[in-house]
Amino acid sequence: MLIIFGASGDLTARKLIPALFNLYKGGHLPEKFVVLGVSRSDLSDGEFRKKVVHESEYLKESVGKEANSFIETFANKLFYEDLGDDYDTNYHRLETRISDLNTKYGTDDNYIFYLSTPPSLYEVIAKNLSEEGLNNEEKGWKRLIVEKPFGYNLDSARKLNEGLHNYFQETQIYRIDHYLGKETVQNLLVTRFANSIFEPLWNRNYIHHVEITNAERVGVEKRGGYYDKSGALRDMFQNHLLQIVSLVVMEPPIGPGAEEIRNEKVKALKSLRKMTDEKTLFDNTIRAQYVSSVIDGEKVPGYREEEGVDPNSTTETYAAIKFFVDNWRWADVPFYVRTAKRMPTKVTEVVIHFKSPHHQIFKDSGMDSKDNKLIIRIQPDEGILIKFGVKVPGQGFKVERANLDFYYSSLVEQHVMEAYERLLLDAMQGDATLYARADEVEAAWEFVDPILEYWKNGKDVKTYGYSAGVWGPKNSDDLIDGNHMWRNPEEQ
Ligand code: NAP
Repeated sequence: MLIIFGASGDLTARKLIPALFNLYKGGHLPEKFVVLGVSRSDLSDGEFRKKVVHESEYLKESVGKEANSFIETFANKLFYEDLGDDYDTNYHRLETRISDLNTKYGTDDNYIFYLSTPPSLYEVIAKNLSEEGLNNEEKGWKRLIVEKPFGYNLDSARKLNEGLHNYFQETQIYRIDHYLGKETVQNLLVTRFANSIFEPLWNRNYIHHVEITNAERVGVEKRGGYYDKSGALRDMFQNHLLQIVSLVVMEPPIGPGAEEIRNEKVKALKSLRKMTDEKTLFDNTIRAQYVSSVIDGEKVPGYREEEGVDPNSTTETYAAIKFFVDNWRWADVPFYVRTAKRMPTKVTEVVIHFKSPHHQIFKDSGMDSKDNKLIIRIQPDEGILIKFGVKVPGQGFKVERANLDFYYSSLVEQHVMEAYERLLLDAMQGDATLYARADEVEAAWEFVDPILEYWKNGKDVKTYGYSAGVWGPKNSDDLIDGNHMWRNPEEQ
């Protein structure tokens, strides 16, 4: 049984129920399967089904003609329990409801509790579940999926880990990072460790620098109030982007198991060089906010004019960080990671920039080292692109850049699982590989905390501006060494 706390909320309707529906349609769920939604709102089972299934705008995409027949049987597997005002009482009633559903629908004692509520409630819910014995694995497994954000800084993340560990074992806790559910993020592991052509080059001897871009075209939309307290560094960098960094940086694991992979990711995160003095932080971090502009003939507001945002806010909608990795493989290789809203396009990509050949015999030929790149496209147009030099036909040795492309869409005709589908299924199967472990989350916060502290209290810290619809503030290329610049992801 899957019990979703915060079932009346946006995430449940927008991601969780459509993911469950697709899993059901694809035959991935057991026949005896029940979802119990839990929130404070007063809803009947029928009203809940109406909201998240029958009248859901989010399910429409999944419901092709052939899927219509699944809708009713799926909806009948959804139930709802209102928990009262504060998520702090009525757990006995909840336990009774769970038992009744079990008896009536013949489901077993395996439960996933999905916490899709404000984070302040995660520990309270875990405590109350344990008081009703709902963490007890004597009769069946009990798992807790915890949504982001996992903490607000290192201290709060540690406290949250300690709090949850009071009631659930680490092996029962699944911290979700939906980026890890994306095929191309997982493909980073396969590209590196299932081929022999990349890994020998994957080090300081051949890689000049690594660049990661995460860009959104939209602004903060209706999430201004939430975003203003969070910012790009907490919202995207600490979790999703550092997860990607860890997959780029990590050493080969001894096997594909969850602990084997996560051990290497933790080591990778711990090897990121922390920035502690103000000069290093000033030189290696940039924060900025979008200002009002005209995009496609339409005026868009600046960040400080958005609803819910403090007009004097210094919260960043653009963050760019340069850092080094202190280990044998990556010594002296700079990493550049940027994430921002109101960029020219929506894209997430990893770019591995290779060094020039030691001895350049074609250096007058129009090809230089900047042209040798491996680009891993995480979204959209998921795939891999290799840029290399080829000879232009004809006399002499004129070199031109060519692309070797692979697009996921050309490989798979069947439905590719959405991140939440994949992750929910993994949690049901007890596979935590794509979930973050406690020490992993803390290692990521350890790196981010000094930057947050500097941006909050630093002496010379600045918040730059950039027009909505451009690739960040004017000084963003200054972060990158030598004559390199951020790659323009719109360029093929
Ligand atoms: P939401 O729309 O605000 O829903 C939150 C749920 O919690 C609702 O069911 C609400 O229902 C309940 N709730 C709200 N405030 C509460 C309070 N003070 N005390 C007790 N219950 C409260 O939020 P959401 O977008 O679904 O997000 C849920 C969680 O997922 C959050 O932690 C968020 O950070 C995370 N998340 C969301 C998204 C997304 O795309 N939406 C993406 C990533 C992570 P009742 O009022 O009926 O109890």
